Amino acid sequence: MDIWDLTIIGAGASGLACAIAAGQQTPRAKILVLEKLDRVGKKLLATGNGRCNLSNTAIGPQAYHSQAPELLKPALECMPTGLVTGFFENLGLLCRTQADGLIYPYCNQASVVLDCLRAELESLSIPVECSCAIQEIRPSRGIFSLTAADGRRFLTKAVVLAAGGMASPKLGSAGEGLSLAKQLGHSATALSPALLPLPCPGLPGGLKGIRALGEARLYRDSQLLRCERGELQFADGALSGIPIFQLTTEMGHPSRKGVYTVSLDLLPQLSREELEAILSQRARSGHYLCAQTLLRGMLSNRLGYAVMKSCGISPLSLPVAALSAAQIRALASTLKNWRLKVSPPAAWDAAQVTLGGIPLEQVELPSFASRIRRGVYLTGEVLDVTGDCGGYNLHWAFSSGILAGRHAAAAVSRQK
Ligand SMILES: Cc1cc2nc3c(=O)[nH]c(=O)nc-3n(C[C@H](O)[C@H](O)[C@H](O)COP(=O)(O)OP(=O)(O)OC[C@H]3O[C@@H](n4cnc5c(N)ncnc54)[C@H](O)[C@@H]3O)c2cc1C
Repeated sequence: MDIWDLTIIGAGASGLACAIAAGQQTPRAKILVLEKLDRVGKKLLATGNGRCNLSNTAIGPQAYHSQAPELLKPALECMPTGLVTGFFENLGLLCRTQADGLIYPYCNQASVVLDCLRAELESLSIPVECSCAIQEIRPSRGIFSLTAADGRRFLTKAVVLAAGGMASPKLGSAGEGLSLAKQLGHSATALSPALLPLPCPGLPGGLKGIRALGEARLYRDSQLLRCERGELQFADGALSGIPIFQLTTEMGHPSRKGVYTVSLDLLPQLSREELEAILSQRARSGHYLCAQTLLRGMLSNRLGYAVMKSCGISPLSLPVAALSAAQIRALASTLKNWRLKVSPPAAWDAAQVTLGGIPLEQVELPSFASRIRRGVYLTGEVLDVTGDCGGYNLHWAFSSGILAGRHAAAAVSRQK
């Protein structure tokens, strides 16, 4: 049976970048990629709504979450934005940086990113075995034996676990990478889904599909955890949109138990006082006859009605002239601080990333070599590093893959 120099488990963002970096570093090395699904890079195709937000100009600890925050800075210092953009430019992919720092392929197509990766794998003659879910990994005298669900067996001198986390299992990983790491003696932190809609049982019905520019603040008990501005989206019993996704990175860990509420500011450009003055002036003007019309042009009608009802203004046919100063003040306050109870999200299917994973303390930097088992490397989402929305997760996956690939290949060539 062949003994491979380096085998990469998982052909997602991280595993593909790793295999290419290893192949470029040591062309003579015998490298193999194993992928559970019937094709490589399935999740990559879904990223950025099919546009693939692959990195960001503001890479730094402020955009990441880990239970070892003190290790984030040194880890991220090894992986500047240019590591990823340079890698892709070398593969022939032109990247474009938006004014907000988000980096996309120039053509805005995730499929082209995957095409570039596949073409380079082919030109480096690195074989990929698809439909090959590795279930068991056994080290013995410097060689690892990998066994797939269908009984196939592979022998390798070094192995990279790039099998992802638990998020969006239909696109690949359902936690197998973490079980393989545990077979090798690693442990994992508690895991929870992140970057997904936030269940909000008390959200009034009938708001599905509404979008509003606003600010969302997340509180645990009375402590403010995070505040985000942008396009809020309303769904059935859930809040969504990028600002809400970002809030979910602050929830979920068992150490963070408590009562969570979100406060929505639906008119962040106005102060509460300015808003109250505008509403009072509208109420006096005689142009707005019933309560239903008072917020015209400020919010979508359905959202406006829901806010009014939630602060007790009902029926909406109530003449505006009948609204008291206290009711106007309450309405202004609710528009600026609409408090809604939310629960930590639990739906892995809807999650973009996994919060938690193999502790960063268990790998060496910048090689991403295991500190527990020689010859093993861990990269991407399998590690306890979660980025915000904005290209930070793919940046982490690609750059940890590139660094591990280069170091693993250098180690292989030293052994040859
Ligand atoms: C819908 C969606 C949109 C996203 N958009 C963005 C975005 O625009 N920008 C951004 O930065 N991040 C985005 N993300 C997050 C980003 O895609 C992930 O963080 C990143 O893909 C993680 O890369 P990875 O290689 O570590 O894991 P994955 O991409 O999950 O790849 C792991 C691979 O390993 C394979 N595998 C698992 N177990 C085994 C096994 N036992 N044997 C063999 N193979 C195995 C899986 O099938 C999979 O192909 C998005 C995520 C989702 C779900």
